Amino acid sequence: MPSLAHAIRRTVIEESMRAHVGHIGSALSIADMLAAVYGEVLPPGPDDGPERDRFVLSKGHAALALYAALAATGRLAPERVSEYCTDGTAVGVHPEHDLPGVDFSTGSLGQGLSIGAGAAFAARMQGSTRRAFVLMSDAEGNEGSVWEAAMFAAHHRLGNLVALVDVNGQQALGYTRDVLAGDLPARWDAFGWDVHVIDGHDVDVIASTIRGLPVGGPPHVLLCETTFGKGVSFMESKIEWHYLPLDEERHRLALQEIGA
Ligand SMILES: [Mg+2]
Repeated sequence: MPSLAHAIRRTVIEESMRAHVGHIGSALSIADMLAAVYGEVLPPGPDDGPERDRFVLSKGHAALALYAALAATGRLAPERVSEYCTDGTAVGVHPEHDLPGVDFSTGSLGQGLSIGAGAAFAARMQGSTRRAFVLMSDAEGNEGSVWEAAMFAAHHRLGNLVALVDVNGQQALGYTRDVLAGDLPARWDAFGWDVHVIDGHDVDVIASTIRGLPVGGPPHVLLCETTFGKGVSFMESKIEWHYLPLDEERHRLALQEIGA
């Protein structure tokens, strides 16, 4: 049986081709992180109950990978993924909360951690142990709002908040080392967070790290080291695949690499 991460990657390649839309490298970057959260951590199947854990895809432009994960795990009807970027659908380039399985609309970068901190704080006020997961990009740390949320979460010791950072070293038009470099582990540690640096393509490691996080104590950040475009060699660590859509030939090559 193909793995969830593999299914996510195939859907990303197939649907981005059909829709002729980019953001493919960003979506492939987080396939294994989503597979860990949706396949190994969150309970299976749809859950609209108030006590469900919340999930925020802060890097909303990678929404196609989220739709693929939701569909492959029974949270979203699979045929809905084929509406990706068609007229009149909620299955857009960025997630909308009208869609089953999507708790929060995102897309404006740097805001997801604030939403997640609010969800975690609300749980605390209600005496609930439910958690909030926020999947964000490394370059979102260029935004001041991220650090306001980080301060808030640390001050309130929101141990039910888990940030998963996709550390792929890239952002829209450059490498993070050239645009705005920084020591991510030291920064998050200085802001009072519980910091874990892990392999962002090892589903078992990501899942077991999350399972080991205590709900009491400080908030948690998993700095998941990833390769942009992971799984398709001609996209890996290539800036242009932030925006480029596939053509017929590259679509064929990408599917060949990912495998049936
Ligand atoms: Mg990045």
